[in-house]
Amino acid sequence: MAGGWAKDGAVEEQIEASIRDELARLKARRTPQGESLTHCADCDEPIPEARRQALPGVKLCIDCQTERDSAYRPRGGINRRGSKDSQLK
Ligand SMILES: [Zn+2]
Repeated sequence: MAGGWAKDGAVEEQIEASIRDELARLKARRTPQGESLTHCADCDEPIPEARRQALPGVKLCIDCQTERDSAYRPRGGINRRGSKDSQLK
């Protein structure tokens, strides 16, 4: 029985690691690395402390980031994985 438990744990760890990896990749792609700004680079609005801590290197306020994100996102049901790949090239 003990072996079975250990196996389950290992699989879960692997899944968790790959999720963390993917999240880190998404974050790195969405926000520039470096120091968080206290004010938005676009509109000079103050960036809330919680946002700066949640997104290290954040340069935009929520409004500007949302605008930027929606500009990136193709409208309609385009395959997410496909668009992700094309952005990386
Ligand atoms: Zn802004």
